[in-house]
Amino acid sequence: MSLPRTLVLASGNAGKLRELVTLLQPLGIDVQPQSLYNVSEAEEPHCTFVENALAKARHAARATGLPALADDSGLCVAALGGAPGVLSARYAGEPKSDARNNERLLADLQNVSDRRAHYVCVLVMVQHADDPQPLIAQGEWHGEILQAPKGDGGFGYDPLFWLPDLEQSCAEIEHELKNTLSHRGNAMRQLLQQLEQRAAQ
Ligand code: IMP
Repeated sequence: MSLPRTLVLASGNAGKLRELVTLLQPLGIDVQPQSLYNVSEAEEPHCTFVENALAKARHAARATGLPALADDSGLCVAALGGAPGVLSARYAGEPKSDARNNERLLADLQNVSDRRAHYVCVLVMVQHADDPQPLIAQGEWHGEILQAPKGDGGFGYDPLFWLPDLEQSCAEIEHELKNTLSHRGNAMRQLLQQLEQRAAQ
């Protein structure tokens, strides 16, 4: 099986697109946003990252007729029992707002001393909408939630996500370093290994 030349990315999130394009470029895979094909946003009704990612990948593949890659990701906070989890993008309700999500997270963690949290990213790739053997990879990135935002890079919860080893927030580090360390980079490296294994079969 050969590597796909073109992959539709089943996400409208500019931050994710930038990170995934960088990660896939070395393989010569052309990653195109689903917005190029006017694909509507898929429903994400499930309570696990993997089910939502699979639903998004199948939806994009069905709408475009192309192989599709979907990412479902979020932040899981230990003291909140794993919340906001799959609800990360809309933690503070509609319309989606990173600023309001961050405010809510800080409010929920007021006077909470256990600040441990991790990002999760599940990547799912389907060759076509009814692919019976999707490739699935899951990455995590562990850190702590700050008491106040720090840094202006990244997206989402990055200004609140503290990396104790680097003594920087995720919004303060370079893109390249984020791609090396992040849940998405980690999941992508696993997915690439799976793709290479399949290509060799
Ligand atoms: P999804 O588009 O449903 O997967 O939502 C993912 C949400 O999780 C984003 O909107 C962010 O709030 C959060 N998230 C996922 N990955 C990251 C990251 O790398 N940095 C910051 N926030 C992230």
